[in-house]
Amino acid sequence: MKRILVTGGAGFIGSHLCERLLSEGNEVICLDNYFTGSKANVVALLNNPYFESVRYDVCSPYFAEIDEIYNLACPASPIHYQYNGIKTVKTSVMGAMNMLGLARRTKAKMLQASTSEVYGDPMVHPQVESYWGNVNCIGERSCYDEGKRCAETLCLNYHRQNGIKVKIIRIFNTYGPKMHPNDGRVVSNFIMQALQNKDITVAGNGSQTRSFQYIDDLVEGMIRMMDRTEDSFIGPVNIGNPGEFTILELAQKIISMTNSKSRIVYIPLPQDDPMQRKPDISLAKEKLDWQPTVALDEGLKKTIAYFDNLLQTGKK
Ligand code: NAD
Ligand code: UDP
Repeated sequence: MKRILVTGGAGFIGSHLCERLLSEGNEVICLDNYFTGSKANVVALLNNPYFESVRYDVCSPYFAEIDEIYNLACPASPIHYQYNGIKTVKTSVMGAMNMLGLARRTKAKMLQASTSEVYGDPMVHPQVESYWGNVNCIGERSCYDEGKRCAETLCLNYHRQNGIKVKIIRIFNTYGPKMHPNDGRVVSNFIMQALQNKDITVAGNGSQTRSFQYIDDLVEGMIRMMDRTEDSFIGPVNIGNPGEFTILELAQKIISMTNSKSRIVYIPLPQDDPMQRKPDISLAKEKLDWQPTVALDEGLKKTIAYFDNLLQTGKK
């Protein structure tokens, strides 16, 4: 049995990860300040004696005897990470430093949840890990993009200077049950709008693309990366679904799958919104024997059912 710390454990991805790690017989400490996460995401785990939930901010050092750290704490949706950009930079950078410091003291292995945003508005398509990216370092998204880039830098420097075992994954747009309904991300927004027959808000002309990964595929990729015995494989490695869709296609698909009466309306494209995004997952296939198994329609079906139930029961 390993004792595993999951920062951001009450968030969308973190709560799925905690559940999976517990189901595999581990002890899990979930650390979260509940900025975008919610107790509802982990309430079902609270009866498990091997699960501990701690209200804590990763900007302060944390001490516990642990074997592994999954460092996920950071708001991930543009509206939330731009709400207080300074705090987002602190969370990414100081959070990574504090967790790497903890890894150094405890000799724990740390997996850093990085992002496809490190590629910015990419000039190379699909994105390969060797591409250095095209990020506007003073734009509205930079608090998140540069914070995450710096966190990768820190991981590599702690590894080189202190021999810390680090693993970096670059996560591409992920969706599924337990996303916050008002999170502002495109999949949750469109499903909530469609289920309530409200206007579907497509940014720009909807020709920008994203590649959507179902949560279960991501969790599998995270665990394979952490558990890989060859610790010399640090990454970064892309974890995403290469199926690429325009945002307009996504809107039409969700309207059709929900039998919605919603109309599509067009809203301004946010600053620096990447025009295209699709992971090259050759490295994940080769090193982790991993590839996604859930097609968009199948994952959307489960996600729609989740939000539908949320609306029926009024719970979140
Ligand atoms: P989320 O907002 O649901 O989860 C983030 C969690 O971190 C929340 O529970 C939040 O309360 C917590 N948090 C934020 N600041 C904190 C702080 N200072 N101290 C402690 N906890 C804090 O988002 P998510 O989608 O679950 O994302 C999890 C991680 O994965 C993030 O690091 C994000 O950057 C990364 N990621 C997610 C996606 C995606 O598509 N969901 C894509 C790329 C990367
Ligand atoms: N988007 C949209 N309508 C919305 C929310 C998002 O058209 O209501 C667009 C957004 O401009 C972007 C894409 O959908 O082009 C994905 O946005 P999201 O915030 O989910 O993720 P990210 O931009 O970080 O990939």
